[in-house]
Amino acid sequence: MKVAKVLEDLNRRFPNEPEYIQAVSEVLNSIEEEYNKHPEFEASNLIERLCIPDRINSFRVTWVDDQGKVQTNMGYRIQHNNAIGPYKGGIRFHASVNQSILKFLAFEQTFKNSLTTLPMGGAKGGSDFSPRGKSAAEVMRFCQAFMLELHRHVGPELDVPAGDIGVGGREVGYMFGMYKKLTRDFSGTFTGKGLEFGGSLVRPEATGYGNIYFLVEMLKTRGLSLEGKKVLVSGSGNVAQYTAEKILQLGGKVMTMSDSDGYVYDPDGIDREKLDYIMELKNLYRGRIREYAEQYPGVKYVAGARPWGEKADIATPCATQNEINGDDARKLIANGVIAVSEGANMPSTPEAVKVFQDAKILYTPGKASNAGGVSVSGLEMTQNAQHLAWSAEEVDAKLHWIMESIHAACVKYGTEPDGYINYVKGANIAGFMKVAKAMMAQGIV
Ligand code: NDP
Repeated sequence: MKVAKVLEDLNRRFPNEPEYIQAVSEVLNSIEEEYNKHPEFEASNLIERLCIPDRINSFRVTWVDDQGKVQTNMGYRIQHNNAIGPYKGGIRFHASVNQSILKFLAFEQTFKNSLTTLPMGGAKGGSDFSPRGKSAAEVMRFCQAFMLELHRHVGPELDVPAGDIGVGGREVGYMFGMYKKLTRDFSGTFTGKGLEFGGSLVRPEATGYGNIYFLVEMLKTRGLSLEGKKVLVSGSGNVAQYTAEKILQLGGKVMTMSDSDGYVYDPDGIDREKLDYIMELKNLYRGRIREYAEQYPGVKYVAGARPWGEKADIATPCATQNEINGDDARKLIANGVIAVSEGANMPSTPEAVKVFQDAKILYTPGKASNAGGVSVSGLEMTQNAQHLAWSAEEVDAKLHWIMESIHAACVKYGTEPDGYINYVKGANIAGFMKVAKAMMAQGIV
C-alpha cells in the first residue's frame, strides 16, 4: 500500500468529505509499515475494503413542530464494517451532521470497537436535526419520525445504536419506544437505555470514567498521578460531566468547562457541588455554561472561545471534532501541559497531534481513551442477551480492566525505539490487525 495513492483515490471519489479523509489519512499513515509486512492484505485489496463503508443508509425525516409546521431533516446510518461483530455506534443529532462527519465517525468506531476486546463492528448514524431550543414534545416527535425509517436497518444481532452528541437517555428512550412499537420486539437493539428497561449501570458514566482511567495509565508510565493536577475540560455534556466527576474523585482539579457558546474558567476549581450545579443546569434545564459564571463569583466566562489558552497540567477535550488546532496545541505546550487525553472523537487537528507528539507529551487519540462508552454498551448487550443486570461495581471493574487492556495494546504496538509511546500508532495498529485478520478469514465479501 502506498498511502498517498490510496488517499488520492479516495479524494477523487469523495471530494466533499474532508472529515472522512482526515480520519482515514491518520489511520493509514500510522498502519502503513505494519500493513506492508503482509502482502496477503494488499493482494486482496484489504485497504479499500476497510476504508469504504459496507453500506450507507440515508433518508428524509419528516415531522411536525409545535407550531404545526412540517419540517424535514436528513437521517443517516453508516454501517462501516461488521467483520468482528454486529454493527455498533452512536447516533448524533446536531445541525452540523452530514455524510462526511458520520463516515469519519463510523470509520473510527470500527477500530475503537476492535480495541475494546469485545465483538462489535463499527457504525454511526444521526441527523442534522438540532435539539437546541426544541420542546420535549418536538424532540419526541422527531425521534419517532427518525425511527420510522431507521428501524428497518437495525436489530440486536444486526446493528445496535446508542447516544452521541445531542442524543442522551431521553432520546434513546423515545427511539427505543418507537422501535418496539414498530417491530413488536423487546430486544437489546439500543444501548444507553434507561435502567428500568434494560440499561446498564455505569453506562452514562462510562465514556468519561474510561477517559480518566486511561489518562491515569498514561501518567503511570512517567511515574505520575492525577493528584493535585489542574485539568482543562471542554464541553459540558455527557462525556465532559463524567470526565470531571472522575477527575475530582481521583484528586485532580477541574479548571474549565464549555459549550458551543464559550467557556468558564474557575480559579478555585469546579468542585463536587459546582459540578452538581452544571449537571442540573445542562441535564434538567438545558441551560448554557455562561450561567455558571453568573452563579459563582470570581469565575471568568469567555464567549466564543475554547479553554486551551488557560494554564494547567492536563487537557481533555470532550466536546467535538477539530476543537484543538495547531495554535491551541502550541499554547497548551507553552503553558506546560504534560498530557492530552481525548474524550471526544478526533478533537485535535492533524497539526495539533503533530505538535503534541513532537513535544513528546503524553497524547492519546479518542479511539483509545473514549472507548469506555462503547465498551459498557457492549456489556449492556451482554446483560440484555442474558436477561439479567450486573451491579455497578461489576460493570465498573470490567470497564477499568478494558481501559487497562487498551492501554497495554497501545504500549505494545506504539512504543518507539526511544521509548516514547505513540498512542496513535499503537491504537490504530492494534485495532486494525484484529479487523484485518477477521476480514481475511471471511473471504472476499
Ligand atoms: P453531548 O451532546 O452530551 O455534549 C456535547 C458537548 O459538546 C456540549 O457541551 C456541546 O455544547 C459541546 N459541543 C457540541 N458541538 C460543539 C461545537 N461544534 N463546538 C463547541 N462545542 C460543541 O455529547 P457527548 O458528551 O455524548 O459527546 C461529546 C464528544 O464525545 C463527541 O465527540 C462524541 O462523539 C464523543 N463520544 C461520546 C460518547 C458517549 O458515550 N456519549 C462515546 C465516545 C465518544 P452545546 O450544549 O452548546 O451544544
